[in-house]
Amino acid sequence: MANQKVTLYIRIIHEGKRIQCKPVYADKNQSRLKPLYAEGHGHHPEAEYYLRYAGVWEAVGDDPYVALDRLHERKEELRRGARSSPAAVTVAESVREVPGSRVTVEAAIKDYLTTGKAAEKDWRQHTLQCYTLALKLFRQSCKKTFLDEISGGDLRTFKVLLRAQKTSTGRKVDPRTVYNHFNNTVSFLNTYGRRDLIPRNEWPAYEEKKVVAYDPEVMQHLLQFATVDEADVLEFFLGVNFRNGEGAHVEWPDINLRTKEVKVYSKREKFDWQVKDSEQRHIAINDTLAERLAARYKRYAGNGLVFPNSKGNPDTHLLRIIKSVALRAGLNCGQCTGTHQRKRMSCAVAPVCRKWIIHTLRKTWATFQARIGTDFATIQTELGHSSPVTTQKYLASQDHNSPRRREQINAAAALVSRNSDEQASIQ
Ligand SMILES: [Zn+2]
Repeated sequence: MANQKVTLYIRIIHEGKRIQCKPVYADKNQSRLKPLYAEGHGHHPEAEYYLRYAGVWEAVGDDPYVALDRLHERKEELRRGARSSPAAVTVAESVREVPGSRVTVEAAIKDYLTTGKAAEKDWRQHTLQCYTLALKLFRQSCKKTFLDEISGGDLRTFKVLLRAQKTSTGRKVDPRTVYNHFNNTVSFLNTYGRRDLIPRNEWPAYEEKKVVAYDPEVMQHLLQFATVDEADVLEFFLGVNFRNGEGAHVEWPDINLRTKEVKVYSKREKFDWQVKDSEQRHIAINDTLAERLAARYKRYAGNGLVFPNSKGNPDTHLLRIIKSVALRAGLNCGQCTGTHQRKRMSCAVAPVCRKWIIHTLRKTWATFQARIGTDFATIQTELGHSSPVTTQKYLASQDHNSPRRREQINAAAALVSRNSDEQASIQ
């Protein structure tokens, strides 16, 4: 054998990606492993041990004792030359392709979140977190060992457990969240052939939330209370329909002030950030916003982020801006509470009102476009929606405020009063 070296690795998920690291030993002689610890990365419960030898990887599970035993076995075999063509088994194979073997729920979950669906779809970090949480909750509710043991009853029990969840502030969990966890778990089960375990009408239901947009008058009022820098942020989001993350990652070279356009695209290497639905798009900038951005560029010239935080990084500070301006403008609802400086506070006195979020500016953009008669296809394209259904939801709820609808509503009411007038004249 040319290469008889066998190396033990631990494979973990780090920032949404699978990486191999050195395992951590519990003693100097390397006779015991610190369970599921990766060098430089701490404890990783999802980790698995792998052996690397003769150009192949062999998965040896998540039990540190088994992993070490296997390491010593392989070393011995290779030393004796017994294993000239090692039969390496990858995780995916062990889960899907070994005929007749029963698949454990644990193995399937691990596969799904690492080499399986997550890798196939190249999930964003957020997506991976959502599925990981859903499946963790499912395991709290269903302790069965094998996938083929899972039945509709387990999903019914899961539904009950999900509904009993509390948020970090002790409130009842949102029905939409219950649905999402349930839906993610069913997708997982479907992937491994466990389909139609429970009829659709037994799924947890939720009320579709109405899409809210700000009125033009309210926006006008809000902007009067913003500093120049704050107004830059608000006018930008209102003018180009960006999602929070898109605005946080926009850099000066993405903006063309001559053609008055801004482009959105994923910035994986630089910021480890991806556009939702992986859709690049170009959006037109109105003349006033173009002037505003030109003025901002004079103040903060460079090639970096247009709206960096105080450390020069993209993050969630844009959300704080809209909330603090809204408080100053007296536009908070006064009814809700939120966490401010680690304290639970009323939105009457703290910048925590749930009414004020960057995302609503995106919906406001769509509403304004619809109101002035921009065609549906353009609105959908510029929002970067892959499905017209989503765009429809953005626009539908505003219909009753349109001048045409107001006229219809008043005309309908007028039918009654006209009739009573006629009645009066007949009598
Ligand atoms: Zn509020």
